[in-house]
Amino acid sequence: MVITGKTRVYGLFGDPVGHSLSPLMQNTAFAFYDFPCCYVPFQVKREDLSVAVASIRALGMGGVNITIPHKEKVLAHLDQVDKEAELIGAVNTVVNRDGLLVGYNTDGAGFIRSLQEEAGFDPEGKKVVLLGAGGAARAVAFALALRGIGFLWIFNRTPARAQLLAQDVAEKTGCQTIGAGLEAELVRNALEQAQLLVHASPVGMYPHHDEEPLIDPLLLPPEVLVCDLVYNPPRTRLLSGAAERGCRVLSGLGMLVYQGALAFELWTGKKAPVSLMRSVLEEQLSRQASR
Ligand code: NAP
Repeated sequence: MVITGKTRVYGLFGDPVGHSLSPLMQNTAFAFYDFPCCYVPFQVKREDLSVAVASIRALGMGGVNITIPHKEKVLAHLDQVDKEAELIGAVNTVVNRDGLLVGYNTDGAGFIRSLQEEAGFDPEGKKVVLLGAGGAARAVAFALALRGIGFLWIFNRTPARAQLLAQDVAEKTGCQTIGAGLEAELVRNALEQAQLLVHASPVGMYPHHDEEPLIDPLLLPPEVLVCDLVYNPPRTRLLSGAAERGCRVLSGLGMLVYQGALAFELWTGKKAPVSLMRSVLEEQLSRQASR
C-alpha cells in the first residue's frame, strides 16, 4: 500500500492492540477495492480516550474500531449511537460522517450474519443457551433477542451476572430469559429444549486450548447447533466434542470476519470482500499455530 496525500486513515483504539487481526483484515479489504485508505492500530490508555475520540474529527479520520477496555466508555464521547449499540451499551465501530461521530455495535450483528450465512440458521423463534455473561455474551444476547428468538437461557460462572444480563435483555426487548449458574442439571434441561448453544467465555482459547470446556459435550443433543465465539484455535475442544456427538458446529472466526465486514460496509458503503478477509485471517492463525 502506498500512502499519499489523499490517504484516509481508519484505525483501532484499544489497550492492548498488538494482538489484533483487524489491521490485516481491513487493509486487505481496502486493497481489494484499491481504496486510498489505511487502517492503523492505536494503543489508547483509559485516561486518553476522550482526546483520542476528538482526534477522529480533528484529523479527519474515516472511522475507527473500538476494543477493550473502551467499548462501553466511548458512548459518552460520541454524537449519535445506533439503537442496537445503545441497548448493548457498547460500541465497537465509529463512523465519521463529516464531523458527526456515530457509534455502532457490529459484534452482535456479525454473529447473526455468521449464523445465517455460514450455518443457514434463522434465529427467529429458536430457543438458545448462552454460556457466559461478559461483553461478547451481552452483544450476542441482545442481537438474538432483537431478532425474535423464542427463549434465552444464560449460564455463567458468576450466577448474579447471568441473572442481571437475563433481566436486562428481558426488560429491554421483551424476550423470555432465565439467568443462572453453570449447574450441569440446569444446563442439561435447557439443552434438551434448545436449537442453539453459544459459548461466550475465553475457556479453550489459545494458548489454553487444552482446558476442559465449560460443559461436558456429552450433554449436547445432536440436533443443537454449537457455536464457540473463541476463534483461536478455530476448532476448540468444545467444537470437537460437539462434532463427535453429531452436532453441527460453528467457529467464532465467522463472527470476527463479519463484525469486520459490517464495519467496512458502514465506512465505505461497499460490500466487504468477506471470503478474502476470512482467508487472510485463517492463514495468519495457522501461521501462529505452527510457531
Ligand atoms: P469478558 O467480558 O471478560 O467475559 C468473560 C466471560 O467468561 C464472563 O462471563 C466470565 O465469567 C467467563 N469466564 C472467564 N473465565 C472463565 C472460566 N475460567 N470459567 C468459567 N467462566 C469463565 O470477555 P468477552 O469479551 O465477553 O470475551 C469472551 C470470549 O469471546 C473470548 O474468548 C473472546 O476471544 C471471544 N470473543 C470473540 C469474538 C469474535 O469475534 N469471535 C468477539 C468478542 C469476543 P464471570 O462473570 O464469572 O467472570
